Amino acid sequence: MNNSRKTMEQGSLFEEYTTPTKASAEKRYRDLNDLYDQSRTCTKCRLSATRKNFVFGEGSSGARLVVIGEAPGAEEDAQGRPFVGRSGKLLDKILEAIGFSRNDVFICNIIKCRPPENRNPLADEIECCMPWLKAQLELISPKIVLLLGRVAANTILDNRQSMTGMRGRILRWSGYDVVVTYHPAALLRNPNWKRHCWEDVQMLRKHYDKVCGG
Ligand code: SF4
Repeated sequence: MNNSRKTMEQGSLFEEYTTPTKASAEKRYRDLNDLYDQSRTCTKCRLSATRKNFVFGEGSSGARLVVIGEAPGAEEDAQGRPFVGRSGKLLDKILEAIGFSRNDVFICNIIKCRPPENRNPLADEIECCMPWLKAQLELISPKIVLLLGRVAANTILDNRQSMTGMRGRILRWSGYDVVVTYHPAALLRNPNWKRHCWEDVQMLRKHYDKVCGG
């Protein structure tokens, strides 16, 4: 991630972030189920010792939109599913508002096991877990990635920008079109940000219809 390169195109409206080489997950995993089987007992970092459940993610293996958060919380850890607590319900509503159900998209987190006390993931944990996310993306091959929250966006895009600096436009990362918006948990704490989120997901839907043909 540290070798990421950022180039600017079309002024500030379109930013491209690229990562070094994109290894072919298809050579290593037959499909998403195979990746799940090979990753669900992962012990690559310390979080394997404290998790209740590994949270792989869920949705369509052919999704053209992948939604990525930071890490599982308590409810997700208990159920082994992403975004199932209060913030998950809000995410469902946000997706429904732009015409998607959970089955239309794929929802996951950067980190597959819950950090204790919901602390932010540590750099070495992210480094250990990122290959699973990259393999998921390579196998699903979405057109658009929606990043939820500043931690997820800073991690994926390898920057330190504020939400204001990242949201409201289409970015490029590693061959994917990327939209950044607020994490539903942040929206529950700060309802004033819902309007910005609504603008972001409306922009996303418009872009989705353009690149995916509606
Ligand atoms: S957080 Fe990721 S790298 Fe760490 S044990 Fe869980 S799956 Fe493995």
